[in-house]
Amino acid sequence: MNICPRIEVNLNKVKHNTSVFKKMCHGKNIQFAGVTKVFCGIPKIAEAMVAGGADMLADSRIENLKKLENIKIPKLLLRLPMMSQAEDVVKYADISLNSELKIMETLSMEAIKQGKVHNIVLMVDLGDLREGVWKSDAIDTVKEILKFEGIKLIGIGVNLTCYGGVIPSNGNLGELSELATTIEKEFDMTLEIISGGNSSSLYLLEKEEMPEKINHLRLGEAIVLGRETAYGEDIKDTYQDAFTFVAEIIELKEKPSVPIGEIGMDAFGNTPTFENKGIRKRAILAVGRQDVAVDNLNPIDKNMEILGASSDHLIVDVTDAKEDLKVGDEIKFQVEYGALLQLTTSEYIYKSIG
Ligand SMILES: *Cc1c(COP(=O)(O)O)cnc(C)c1O
Repeated sequence: MNICPRIEVNLNKVKHNTSVFKKMCHGKNIQFAGVTKVFCGIPKIAEAMVAGGADMLADSRIENLKKLENIKIPKLLLRLPMMSQAEDVVKYADISLNSELKIMETLSMEAIKQGKVHNIVLMVDLGDLREGVWKSDAIDTVKEILKFEGIKLIGIGVNLTCYGGVIPSNGNLGELSELATTIEKEFDMTLEIISGGNSSSLYLLEKEEMPEKINHLRLGEAIVLGRETAYGEDIKDTYQDAFTFVAEIIELKEKPSVPIGEIGMDAFGNTPTFENKGIRKRAILAVGRQDVAVDNLNPIDKNMEILGASSDHLIVDVTDAKEDLKVGDEIKFQVEYGALLQLTTSEYIYKSIG
């Protein structure tokens, strides 16, 4: 299919990448959720994750979990639930990550109404300063959660490397393990899930430094881009190009590399600067900043360079391109996480999935 601009998804590569983590995690008694939010919960891609061995599917938005209703596997809501969405949360998520008693109470009432028991993982903040109760408040919070009859506390979890950039370690995940042990003793219960974070926790498995009690991870970027996110390293035996972006050339001309005339502001209020490289061959592609932050795209042909973009035009220097390009030809890009998120969200980008 050559509708442009498009994001191309190779389902076999998604499945393969997932199966690499299946081996890596299950070998250490760790279950993992395939995180679908970066591709807006497109069901076919989620199915490839399930085929590759994901134990559950997870998304930050209930709207996306709703799309996955027909895939019969547990669903986990990653973002703390909105009180106003309690009904859908209980309906479409089997488990949710939580930190607020008031919201858990609402979920409990809603679950009773729907004749269900909704499962809760209590999030603990170990320093990244996004979601979670402070560790010293965890025991008191658990005491309250256990009073709610419509919900069941099945685990505790942590999220790191998202807001504060804090890297998971044997130290901070060790604290989570210890807290799990304390809760289990104090309340005479077993926690099914000790969720040790996202794609940034994987390197601890490789280094054999994952605390033993951690038995659950939530993996998005690692599956989708084949990369761990603590240090940004590619993961062995995985594909980095399960997702690629393709746009079409609508003008191809030789022009100077420095604009002619007095330089004021560009379309976005910045004053651009230019390096004089003489006359260059420039391609204009029909895609722009309305669709994607172009800094997060990398031409697959490393001899090409993105020069800039306005809302609807992306300008690429193709003087040294490996192929002899013509107007109407396509240029392919590797995508960073942020670009993928925007491209799958944009209604102007065609999704070619196969
Ligand atoms: C997005 C998210 C993840 C997945 O993160 P990746 O870095 O893509 O693996 C896991 N947990 C929570 C709470 C998230 O919001």
